[in-house]
Amino acid sequence: MPVLTRSAELFEKAKKFIPGGVNSPVRAFKSVGGTPIYMAKGQGAYMTDVDGNTYLDYVGSWGPFILGSMHPRLTAAIEYTLRNIGTSFGTPIELEIEIAELLCKVVPSLEMVRMVNSGTEATMSAVRLARGYTGKDKIIKFEGCYHGHGDSFLIKAGSGVLTLGAPDSPGVTKGTANDTLNATYNDIESVKVLVNENKGEIAAIIIEPVAGNTGVIPAKKEFLVALRELCDQEGIVLIFDEVMCGFRVALGGAQEYYGVTPDLTTMGKIIGGGLPVGAFGGKREIMQNVAPLGAVYQAGTLSGNPLALTAGLETLKILIEENPYPELERKAAFLEAGFKANMDKLGLNYTQNRVGSMACLFFTETPVVDYKSAITADSAKYGKYFHSMLDQGIYLAPSQFEAMFTSFVHTDADLEKTVAANYNALVAAHQ
Ligand code: PLP
Repeated sequence: MPVLTRSAELFEKAKKFIPGGVNSPVRAFKSVGGTPIYMAKGQGAYMTDVDGNTYLDYVGSWGPFILGSMHPRLTAAIEYTLRNIGTSFGTPIELEIEIAELLCKVVPSLEMVRMVNSGTEATMSAVRLARGYTGKDKIIKFEGCYHGHGDSFLIKAGSGVLTLGAPDSPGVTKGTANDTLNATYNDIESVKVLVNENKGEIAAIIIEPVAGNTGVIPAKKEFLVALRELCDQEGIVLIFDEVMCGFRVALGGAQEYYGVTPDLTTMGKIIGGGLPVGAFGGKREIMQNVAPLGAVYQAGTLSGNPLALTAGLETLKILIEENPYPELERKAAFLEAGFKANMDKLGLNYTQNRVGSMACLFFTETPVVDYKSAITADSAKYGKYFHSMLDQGIYLAPSQFEAMFTSFVHTDADLEKTVAANYNALVAAHQ
């Protein structure tokens, strides 16, 4: 069991100056209990905390670390930019064109793209653009999907708020909430009902095409195809929020994986390579409404800064050159099969969902296809499971309703260690 003396001291001090001691709620370990762990150093698939304990990492900074932490090519590129270019100019730079061109090449829906600083900025901007373009106000999202902390999205919004047991956030006005309608994931009829009840009023439908914020829930292909058809019929902008699944389930994201092309796509996490980056892009016809070309305002002091773009661009280049996707699939499938074999030995039959290197072991026997089935999972059992894994040196997300990310740098020995630990943790979860 790791000794967490220094982490505990730091957390006590942090609580005096930072709300809840953390800069993002899930880090506080509220749903699993115990002391949040203060990390001191990351290297590859491992992290070392301030007390000197080392963990095998399956959180990967919540998704960006598909290549692990401190990939040597990434650190060299960032260092080069830092020493030779600078951190920010607030002017156009050549690097912006290079990353925009590359993104448009690899992501099927992109004809134009705008860089921002986070996934939240990307989704907020994409929805404003869809509203400006269509002249309509309402949006449809899906129960349990998280699209960042923009007001319009904090309605039945998945992991963060789910973990805290607060379905909505105070501070979101009734007017804003009224413009956000929630449909059921993987259920096209629920979407059609909302579209019919709000005929001619829906600007956009936004969806995580692989939901990763209520655990992991794959979309059914026929559901995405039906959404595409519905949006075409009704003049609704279809937005794929690929902040998490983009560049992870395939180089071109879920839209490549499923072969369904949205009108707009939001991105983040992996394209920042561990630095703060987001992006939104899509059809030229829609994107040309963004300022200064069009009237829909969107801006950012640090948008497209050289340091973050270098990290993103280098990550993309590595993904293109090394094509890690078959290997990620093999590794994540190994874990899934290992966990299944452990459960068979223990007479357990919990649901595992996985798309490529995004996975979730739900502590429920119910198949998880939407929010309602996801929340049948037993968070208390997950808490015990999580702590047992942690005691064995494996760092999972401190919430049942988050994804487990396998990275390119997890070795076969790491995976075997994880499967062995999973057996013990499954036992511990039932004690
Ligand atoms: N969209 C999705 C699908 C996400 O998973 C997240 C973050 O987890 C966001 C948007 C928000 O991104 P950020 O945390 O960078 O603002």
